[in-house]
Amino acid sequence: MKDLTAAERLPRTELGRLQLGRLRRSVASAAERIPLHRERLRAAGLTARDLRSLDDLRRLPFTTKADFRDAYPYGLLAVPLDDVVRVHASSGTTGKPTVVAYTRRDLQTWSDVMARTLMMGGVGRSDVVQNAYGYGLFTGGLGFHYGAERVGAAVIPISGGFTERQLMALQDLGSTVLCSTPSYALYLAEALEEAGIAAKDLRLRVGFFGAEPWTEGMRAALEERLDLMALNIYGLSEVIGPGVSVECPERRGMHVAEDHFLPEVVDPATLEPVADGVPGELVFTTLTKEALPLIRYRTRDITTLDRTPCACGRTLARIGRITGRTDDMLIIRGVNVYPSQIEHALTQVAGVEPHYLLVVRRDGALDALEVRVEATASVAAAGPDAMRGAAALVKRRIHETIGLTADVTVVPPKAIERSAGKAKRVEDLRPRGGAPS
Ligand code: AMP
Ligand code: ZN
Repeated sequence: MKDLTAAERLPRTELGRLQLGRLRRSVASAAERIPLHRERLRAAGLTARDLRSLDDLRRLPFTTKADFRDAYPYGLLAVPLDDVVRVHASSGTTGKPTVVAYTRRDLQTWSDVMARTLMMGGVGRSDVVQNAYGYGLFTGGLGFHYGAERVGAAVIPISGGFTERQLMALQDLGSTVLCSTPSYALYLAEALEEAGIAAKDLRLRVGFFGAEPWTEGMRAALEERLDLMALNIYGLSEVIGPGVSVECPERRGMHVAEDHFLPEVVDPATLEPVADGVPGELVFTTLTKEALPLIRYRTRDITTLDRTPCACGRTLARIGRITGRTDDMLIIRGVNVYPSQIEHALTQVAGVEPHYLLVVRRDGALDALEVRVEATASVAAAGPDAMRGAAALVKRRIHETIGLTADVTVVPPKAIERSAGKAKRVEDLRPRGGAPS
């Protein structure tokens, strides 16, 4: 196996040369094959040849989530569908998901960066990886799966949920590695305690937790209650999925796989790059992707960038914890939810009006979503049974749209507070950043 981690310790000037060469090729190919990038570069009066140093990156136009929506489903691809071997999707800002695609080489790149992610926690052939990220359109499940196979570990593709079965695997199959959202890991810790199983009697050694915001308090709880080292991982479908960045055992920020993904942090108002250490919006340019190359993709995630050397010896830049987002996306049980998606679902159910409020709570370790929505006058006049019937329809529609089970309450007309300005659609009652209650 070639040395997958060779790029992780390059002197930064050498890494910069590698990045610049890859950047030029990627931008040239995007301009040649993708109309959106071709037109934007033309409008900016730029070609790949104008990229003389990495500083020139800031001259390139941005790409946004809205571009995915406008190009839905395949308009941002640089290859014909014949060359695509995998498609994933994540939440879009309206009813349509954000579709992402991979060539065979992209899947290879993805397994490489996922292998590196796992290797940060020392995962190798002797490990048993319990992969409790969801398999399916979400990139978490298959991303970790391929990475774990790549390092030669034994993978248990258990997916999320099925708590009894998770406990069985933890006990009987000798899992040494747990991959899941931090909230689900906490839920498993509680389930173990309820079942009278001591974490120290399990073989768990390291956990890779991400896909949603969490805190140092949550880390302390997970490390103690599961008796493992908890590492933060961050990624997003548009860029590749998980594998974009991960903490090393120093746990002072997540190293970005900078030989594949070039990070920037910009001021979300001026869109100018900020100094290292100053919080701003994280932006990525992909350097090696074939099917879906991205130029300066605005993630909406707020963090800081740190290019100082890390005690682990890796020279890769690190990003801090994600402290917020610039848009209204909620992450509920690891699923991205935009209020606009719920609204879209509500407009498709006769019997309710799109006057609604989303209430998010933490119920034990897990998030719970309540949707309060107003009945139409005629349903309200028809009585409580009609209102409950409408609630059941809304619940089904929301499940079909975003895959989450919500508690739906249909309330009488005008019961939801009106606002003169921007409607308040969300009441997030969770402890900030997901600290355990
Ligand atoms: P998806 O494309 O569905 O994988 O969702 C990606 C989004 O999940 C990111 O843009 C972040 O908002 C969020 N996310 C992923 N990992 C983390 C993490 N470790 N901490 C906080 N948010 C995260
Ligand atoms: Zn490090």
